[in-house]
Amino acid sequence: MPLLERLLMGPGPSNVYPEVMAAAVEPVLGHLDPIFLGVLDETMARLREVFATTNPLTFPISGTGSAGMEAALVNSISPGQVVVVAINGLFGMRMAEVASRHGAEVIAVEFPWGKPVNPEALVSAHPSPAIIAVVHAETSTGVVNDLTWLGANKGDALLLVDSVTSLAGMPLLIDDWGIDLSYSGTQKCLGVPPGLSPFTASPRALERFVDRPSSWYLDLSLVAAYVSGDATGTRSYHHTAPSTQVVGLHAGLGAILEEGLEAGFARHEETGRALQAGLEDMGLDLLVDAPHRLAQLTTVMIPDGVDDLTTRTSLRERYSIEIGGGVGPLAGKVWRIGCMGHSARMANVLTLLAALEETIAR
Ligand SMILES: *Cc1c(COP(=O)(O)O)cnc(C)c1O
Repeated sequence: MPLLERLLMGPGPSNVYPEVMAAAVEPVLGHLDPIFLGVLDETMARLREVFATTNPLTFPISGTGSAGMEAALVNSISPGQVVVVAINGLFGMRMAEVASRHGAEVIAVEFPWGKPVNPEALVSAHPSPAIIAVVHAETSTGVVNDLTWLGANKGDALLLVDSVTSLAGMPLLIDDWGIDLSYSGTQKCLGVPPGLSPFTASPRALERFVDRPSSWYLDLSLVAAYVSGDATGTRSYHHTAPSTQVVGLHAGLGAILEEGLEAGFARHEETGRALQAGLEDMGLDLLVDAPHRLAQLTTVMIPDGVDDLTTRTSLRERYSIEIGGGVGPLAGKVWRIGCMGHSARMANVLTLLAALEETIAR
């Protein structure tokens, strides 16, 4: 379908807060402009609220969620150090791959896709790892991994948590749960376009940062000279901050905090569960058992006789709704339906359910 024709149908459910779109058309600010630095300061303060942390080094990395993942690992491991990685989906696999490329000795602790991680198996995988890494909300399967026990039992290891899909969508308490390093992404429950990776590191993690990590761009000691400044607070150039994206994130965080974090969590929960109930009412099966099921990302089994790609294409072209296909071993077997950020609204859930039912029946 030609792009113009689709645009004329209307935008479909957007996961971007309208405040973000309004901010994104403002004039571009220079990355050392005092006005922009004020926005950056406030963005960092807002991120601390959303991450529930007092960590001074809490800021948006210039890059997507994967850049945050790489930054967390590359600054914290020297070649040969042991990283225990929980793998129950694509993003756990990616952490293991990134850690191994930077020379870590990776101990992968694997669980079936669609099942949660057993935290005790992670802790017993090695007596003294440098890092234990786990994905909070596995977007490839729709599973939530419990973090609270791990934080209390991590021992001397740093706990690294991928919060790309959980941040602002469900409770995540960096300080209370003993999480040392975490990265997120703007395009999931933060409801902001892709391109930044909100990041936080505890003082304990900072003390262990390696000298001259194998990435210059993601060397957080260098980046800190810009985002935190020197002893006098003076900021100096490291790389040009993507100022318009930061302004957009600032606006999105403003919308999130104005709604209230708890109210936002409740909205994700209510809409995600309504979606799941509606899918089950249609006779469809969900991949993940109820206690471990995310509200923010639902994996539903593709019914027999229904074509995966035709259905998704039809939803996009006829209703401007995009749902995801399965990945890895779930490719062609499930659809992944996000209910995140600004798009987590009952009107969108009801439209999707009706559209899916109509599309399957065609
Ligand atoms: C989307 C996602 C990522 C990767 O983020 P990008 O922005 O695509 O680089 C990592 N982890 C999880 C859990 C995700 O959902």
